[in-house]
Amino acid sequence: MASSAELHQRRSAAVARGVSSMIPSYVSTAAGGTMTDVDGREWIDFAAGIAVTNVGNAAPKVVAAVQAQVERFTHTCFMIAPYEQYVAVCEELAALTPGDFEKRSALFSSGAEAVENAVKIARHATGRQAVVVFDHAYHGRTNLTMALTAKVMPYKQGFGPFAGEIYRVAMSYPLRDGRSGADAAAYAIGQIEKTVGAVNVAAVLIEPIQGEGGFVVPAEGYLPAIAAWTKAAGAVFIADEIQTGFCRTGSWFACQHEGIEPDLITTAKGIAGGLPLAAVTGRAEIMDSVHPGGLGGTYGGNPIACAAALASIETMRELDLNAAARHIESVAMPRLEALAAKHPSIGEVRGRGAMLAVEVVIPGEDGAAGPAPDAVRTAAVAKAAHELGLLLLTCGTYGNVIRLLPPLIISDDELDRGLSLLEQAFATV
Ligand SMILES: *Cc1c(COP(=O)(O)O)cnc(C)c1O
Repeated sequence: MASSAELHQRRSAAVARGVSSMIPSYVSTAAGGTMTDVDGREWIDFAAGIAVTNVGNAAPKVVAAVQAQVERFTHTCFMIAPYEQYVAVCEELAALTPGDFEKRSALFSSGAEAVENAVKIARHATGRQAVVVFDHAYHGRTNLTMALTAKVMPYKQGFGPFAGEIYRVAMSYPLRDGRSGADAAAYAIGQIEKTVGAVNVAAVLIEPIQGEGGFVVPAEGYLPAIAAWTKAAGAVFIADEIQTGFCRTGSWFACQHEGIEPDLITTAKGIAGGLPLAAVTGRAEIMDSVHPGGLGGTYGGNPIACAAALASIETMRELDLNAAARHIESVAMPRLEALAAKHPSIGEVRGRGAMLAVEVVIPGEDGAAGPAPDAVRTAAVAKAAHELGLLLLTCGTYGNVIRLLPPLIISDDELDRGLSLLEQAFATV
């Protein structure tokens, strides 16, 4: 097998520079909560391929389902010759997503594609155009979703012009806005009413816990207030649960923690154990407002990806991965809080289930928007963790958040080893 150094050389001459990788090591195999690189080194996985392999890498049921499906047929295009697996995934989505009402789903291949389609559907259903999004939001890298995304570097820089009729308002960010959920919602709603106008709003699109934007958990009461306003305005409330979905936060979907029933939910990442699949699920009358042929795509709901999704969902149920996510929180949170007590550079520890974050700040330097972010230390901690063999991601508008996204099947021993490596990384920086 070629070494990572050899592969890196080949890569430099063949792969576009714009597609970068976090670590310089190349993967050989991955299973459960660990990965082995081509140089024979083992890594603890606190990334899950960005919250994708919730059921673990190469999960046994997923592997078997994919193998069985790939031998039957690989692709027909659901828009040409339909198949049961697509229908079965939509049935599961209707059952698992919150809300006891008639639902419909449409399947796609990537999260960005799901978000684009949710916006298309909301505009079609309402006959309105404006889409409200939030500070720190991340919704993808296609033209429309770049416009919906807040952060310019690296996602948007030089890639404009961007799609129009998108309006950004304040997110609740307790560490930085000092507002209660109700106050933050009132402020954001005031912005919408003054700068967009309720009658123009097609959709309000929000991540119930922000992902790339910094694992921002809005203050309690914020989401329900925004959802209630959206309903009263006759607009569509879209929860982007692409990162938070499928047991990640200790429930099937993060909006369930505050009893919210979104009109539409976008899902992807954790849905299919690593196979590319995404969905828009929501109220039948909104989904079905679109004319036949108005939604689709060549690969959307590919049968292999659908088989993987069905096996992933079965695994989540069988192993009770919601309980597993809560268990991860109960083990990791006290360790992270102890770490914060030791390092004044940790401004906050937050998150839900197996979606946990540490925000790194410059102690004593408080500005108008809360404690000064320390992106340099954050990057150094992540690098130290990588050198120790821990796959660890950062995020945040200010690049100062370390995020934990282990696969939900991670063993207690692997979790303990990973947390120890994180503690060591903080100690060395
Ligand atoms: C990753 C992500 C997306 C985009 O998904 P892709 O599959 O990368 O296109 C959209 N929204 C959220 C919240 C995400 O985390």
